[in-house]
Amino acid sequence: MRKAKSKKKKKSELDELIDFLPEEFRNTWERMPDDMKEYFVKAAEESKTPEEFISRIMVGCCPQCGSPETISCEEVEEIEDPTVGICKTCGLLWCLECQAPIEDEEECLHWDICRKCEKSKDLKADCGEVASECEKVKKWFEAKSIEVTGSICSWCGKKIPEDEVRFVFGAKIKNMPQELKDKCGRFFIPFGKSQKKIGVIVPLPSWKIKKHNCDIIFVACSRDCVGTIGDYFESEGLSSEFVFDLF
Ligand SMILES: [Zn+2]
Ligand SMILES: [Zn+2]
Ligand SMILES: [Zn+2]
Ligand SMILES: [Zn+2]
Repeated sequence: MRKAKSKKKKKSELDELIDFLPEEFRNTWERMPDDMKEYFVKAAEESKTPEEFISRIMVGCCPQCGSPETISCEEVEEIEDPTVGICKTCGLLWCLECQAPIEDEEECLHWDICRKCEKSKDLKADCGEVASECEKVKKWFEAKSIEVTGSICSWCGKKIPEDEVRFVFGAKIKNMPQELKDKCGRFFIPFGKSQKKIGVIVPLPSWKIKKHNCDIIFVACSRDCVGTIGDYFESEGLSSEFVFDLF
């Protein structure tokens, strides 16, 4: 009985928020499947303002810093692309289709994979699969994350030249930092009480690496940096489990 009551309350709050949505969106609300509606309710509960709610459901939180202050670039000058998101907090540009960060490239490189993909497509060259679920795109995203993060030492921040050895290893974390929960991608955030900023990769759930049970992956420029990261994580009580044979 109590439960039903609180649900009702949620719904009216939601109705208020729905009023802020573009008209075409409001019209589809009634026809929306229940799990979509539930997602909306959750986003509404977590949002402090109507603007934040819109950003959450249309764009989602920033995959780099977790900020809800995000917008699509549809109306951002010189980008004008509804498939690109921008974070107002950290400035990250990322692809809303596959979640990959966009750096200097004109468009997300996953589009290239889709163009070359032999799957049957409709007249708009769409195979019907969400890019973030496509096996080919996922494989590319994994390689890209390791490659880009892999060029910078997790500990000392040194750029590791392409022809030099890099040490890639993972760790199981006791308490995953809030910023990294349910995320994947590259992050540079403070860890532990000493708040040392460390560069890490959070792998996609589908990554083979996840089989080794690693929550985060490090890339180090030297055995010294490997040791220092290990010592730091142990002394701060963050992790005592490391995995060195990732590949
Ligand atoms: Zn951000
Ligand atoms: Zn993409
Ligand atoms: Zn595909
Ligand atoms: Zn280093």
